[in-house]
Amino acid sequence: MRSYIKLSLAVLSALAVVVNGTDNNAIADSLGLHLSLRTEILFLPDPNYENFTQRHSSFANPSYNIAIKPATTQDVSKIVKYANEHNFTYMATGGGHGISRGFSHVQGAIDIDLGKFNKTQLYLDDNLVTVGAANVLADFAETLYKAGKEIPTGNSPCVSAIGATIGAGVGPMQGLRGLMIDSLRSVLMVTPNGDIVTASKTENPDLFWAIRGAGANFGIITEATYEVYDATNNGQHINADFVYGPESAHGVFAVMSHWDSDDVYPKEMSMSVTLGVNSTTRLPFISVSVYYFGPYEAAKPYLQALVDIEPVRWHNASLGWDGMTQAAGFGQTFAKACVRGRYTSHYTAGLNQTDVHTWKTVFRQFASWSGPRPWFQGSIILQRYNAKVTQQVPEADCGAYPWRDIGTLVLMANTYDGPAHDAEVDGFYRTLRESIYKGSGFSSPHVYINFGNGDEGTEAWYGPSLPRLRKLKQKWDPRGRFGPGFPIPPESGVHFCFDT
Ligand SMILES: Cc1cc2nc3c(=O)[nH]c(=O)nc-3n(C[C@H](O)[C@H](O)[C@H](O)COP(=O)(O)OP(=O)(O)OC[C@H]3O[C@@H](n4cnc5c(N)ncnc54)[C@H](O)[C@@H]3O)c2cc1C
Repeated sequence: MRSYIKLSLAVLSALAVVVNGTDNNAIADSLGLHLSLRTEILFLPDPNYENFTQRHSSFANPSYNIAIKPATTQDVSKIVKYANEHNFTYMATGGGHGISRGFSHVQGAIDIDLGKFNKTQLYLDDNLVTVGAANVLADFAETLYKAGKEIPTGNSPCVSAIGATIGAGVGPMQGLRGLMIDSLRSVLMVTPNGDIVTASKTENPDLFWAIRGAGANFGIITEATYEVYDATNNGQHINADFVYGPESAHGVFAVMSHWDSDDVYPKEMSMSVTLGVNSTTRLPFISVSVYYFGPYEAAKPYLQALVDIEPVRWHNASLGWDGMTQAAGFGQTFAKACVRGRYTSHYTAGLNQTDVHTWKTVFRQFASWSGPRPWFQGSIILQRYNAKVTQQVPEADCGAYPWRDIGTLVLMANTYDGPAHDAEVDGFYRTLRESIYKGSGFSSPHVYINFGNGDEGTEAWYGPSLPRLRKLKQKWDPRGRFGPGFPIPPESGVHFCFDT
């Protein structure tokens, strides 16, 4: 018996809901019967949907009438072709960690949940690893560390590897190894018209260029192959965490400002500086998490500079790189990153400098706004990576990601109690973001789409890559079915599905 029948029989017989003018029985017959045995289809609402990938944030969520977990790339192809033919809206779900107000344009759609694409295969002789669309960043660590290898991954263990990569893929090893797109060698994907293709430097190179920075706009990637490297310092790194009171703000931002130069700030180091408010006392604090991919002696001068600012609490440890994200922030920071279903919006900005005055003002405004709002549990995170290696990639290998010059990425992660406070949160953060843009050292906003809000606009998302991306959008996805979070208008300028 086909699994979709097993899961959905009651719903089918009882409801025969009409979706986009097509009833469930018709969909089950015309699509379900042609998909492979392990594929699951649900007509929503259905209690079994909790076994599908749930979203990290419920902010501006897409809404679905149908959820499908395809088992093979051929299944994905058939679903896309069917949905195109019957004019269904659809969206792929990888790790479910994407957040964009643009997702709210996806209504009554098909959720193409990639949860069954979960293979991780290491090819040691070729220094390559292949992962599926459901594999999360932690899966890289588990597989590669044991083999004495490494790859640049992100900060959160629960984000999908491919989902992070197709925006660029930033993370702690970026100073040493570049962005995740810089290690990407090929992908297997379903194009917007449902064809199955490989994209690499030699096959469909224009598509390969586009997916390295604007990937969600160009189809569904079911697996990706990356180059891997011998582990730095035998896979050991130093993790150090510091907590400061608000009186140390000047000291922290002054150190960051001193480290703005990539000749001063080492490529082996990554630092996350979090501005937060204690959930009980509502008093502001700053925490700093450092990873140093090298021996303690090499890390020591940088740790000493942070000790000199007199943290109220700190520690350091030597660990395997596979455990880095779980250890950060005294083991607390990234636990939150794996939670699902909280209401969180993002705002972001890329920086070319840490302007001390700007950041002292931002911290003061953030503390005085969020302190008296107990329903708000947001933080502002500044991630500093040495950008030399990222910028030394030859132009022919760069991909569409336009903002390799960002030295520090700011992520404003705003967790709160729901839509009733949207206007208040958006009002505050839009103003704050303007001040951050002004002090960023860039003449125009540099927005990393994976941290974006969805309101910044195509210039901020794609910058100088936009004209070529629009041409490719016209070629591969002229009806604009993909990329609701950060949509690219096709070159013709016609109205498209997710025009905002
Ligand atoms: C807590 C947290 C921590 C994060 N840490 C990092 C980090 O360290 N580094 C970093 O670079 N980013 C980070 N991000 C951002 C993250 O990379 C993006 O949110 C990314 O879009 C998440 O991908 P996903 O597959 O998990 O999400 P989803 O919500 O499933 O997907 C996001 C978008 O990508 C599309 N998509 C997903 N998978 C595929 C696929 N296989 N093929 C085509 N399209 C696909 C979806 O359709 C959707 O449009 C973080 C986000 C959060 C919430």
